[in-house]
Amino acid sequence: MVCTWNREKVLDLFNRLRGRYVVREDEFIALKLITSKGELFEVLVGIVLSQNTSERNAIRAFDNLKKVVKSVTPEALLRLSDEELQRAIAPAGLHRRRAIMLKKLASIFLVQGSCIIEKISELDVEAARQLLLKLPGIGPKTADVVLLMYFNKPTFPVDTNIDRVSRRLGIVSSDARYEDIRRRFLELLGRETSVLRLMHLLLIQHGRETCKARKPLCDRCVVSDLCCSFAKD
Ligand code: SF4
Repeated sequence: MVCTWNREKVLDLFNRLRGRYVVREDEFIALKLITSKGELFEVLVGIVLSQNTSERNAIRAFDNLKKVVKSVTPEALLRLSDEELQRAIAPAGLHRRRAIMLKKLASIFLVQGSCIIEKISELDVEAARQLLLKLPGIGPKTADVVLLMYFNKPTFPVDTNIDRVSRRLGIVSSDARYEDIRRRFLELLGRETSVLRLMHLLLIQHGRETCKARKPLCDRCVVSDLCCSFAKD
């Protein structure tokens, strides 16, 4: 079920979530690495480690890797044997698959790293997105996180929390796909990257703490009167 959502209503949602949650950078690996001025390659490694696992596991795996290589660069990753790399990133799970992906990414960045960064900076957001999507291990969500958080380009990454919360709120229909949700938020929020970034983080926080997957805590939800699912109950 889709409720009526317009810019005014979505900004009301934004302001209420902003009043309710504190976004902590140490709970988001991409944010943590970008805030500490990580290189693009380092940020991509962090995000690849966070795919299909919790941010906590990804941070543990990244810290482990950093202990082993000191500096997370393409050269350092390629110097590790497959087994050493797998061991270092084991806390994130799926370590064999991830290690293959990271080595492929490292080989590309070793040769073309600065060229890739330059191109992405110059291209408009959709063209830059297509370029990122060609890299190994980079799907739509990772590409959008990198574009918004690292390159400050207007897009809207959708993780599993945002996917669930936006359906329940009725911002998108129950059969909406990744691209539908991304475009809907861009349509409602506009192109101001500071707003897009904070809304992305707040919706994740809301999904983790309140609008949980199994049992949403609707009785303590600060946006229940805006929510399509709550109104139905
Ligand atoms: S009212 Fe319930 S379902 Fe709706 S956003 Fe809040 S927690 Fe989620």
